[in-house]
Amino acid sequence: MVDQERLYLCSENRRKRLTPTDNHQRKIRFAEFRFYEELNDFLPAEQHKTSFRSPFYGHPSVKDTIQAMGVPHTAIDLILVDGQSVNFSHRLRGGERVAVYPVFERLDISPVIHLRPRPLRRTRFILDVHLGKLARYLRMLGFDAAYKRDWDDVTIIDLSLQQQRIILTRDLGVLKQSRVTHGYWLRHVDPQQQLQEVLLELDLFRQLQPFTRCMDCNGRIHQVDKAVISGQIDPVIYQRFREFWQCQDCMKIYWRGSHYDRMLRQVGKFSRELHHHSAE
Ligand SMILES: [Zn+2]
Repeated sequence: MVDQERLYLCSENRRKRLTPTDNHQRKIRFAEFRFYEELNDFLPAEQHKTSFRSPFYGHPSVKDTIQAMGVPHTAIDLILVDGQSVNFSHRLRGGERVAVYPVFERLDISPVIHLRPRPLRRTRFILDVHLGKLARYLRMLGFDAAYKRDWDDVTIIDLSLQQQRIILTRDLGVLKQSRVTHGYWLRHVDPQQQLQEVLLELDLFRQLQPFTRCMDCNGRIHQVDKAVISGQIDPVIYQRFREFWQCQDCMKIYWRGSHYDRMLRQVGKFSRELHHHSAE
């Protein structure tokens, strides 16, 4: 353990270009950290799923210390210091044991106080500019997924706060901004895998409501009388399907075509809930 400490010290000193004089002026302290579940994705391999000691100077906040390790604060739901739930502003003194749990931890940790007064369980999303396909998939399954190709990071964060939306992004930089309260960093690049990831990690299978939202504009869609849309769509489609839906915002017309079936099959692999839902 002593050797390990020395190793950390060396690398820390190199990084901050400290001179021996600085060392005398600023006492180096250690706390023991342990990160749970998907928070390990942000850490180097040797720190995965194990306790490790980490050095710091002075009395930094637990938030700054954790962010300096590469874990964005938005991924965190709960921090226990020596078994007590603390806020992000809690200052470290050295010698404590710090346990850090992710936002979407599925273990029952309800008896302890969470960092956020109310979790955003009424799931609404805002997606960054590279996630247009994922936005369409989420809408297809009924999720409120705000997305526009020309939104910049500031706009996305503003809307996330104003409308209580979870930011979905592949850009860790967005989630590290201090204003952000709810965000999820996607591990996958492929849109279908991203959809699977979001559904699994956020445990959303019970919230699926296929055919309630417009894939193009995120507006609500409602079932319409077939006669009403006569003349507005291809006659072959009109003949072949009995049920039609229409977006109340952009007026786009929907029916349960092959694309919808393909999509349901894909998602259905991961959830018996969905099979139940689509059979209704
Ligand atoms: Zn629409």
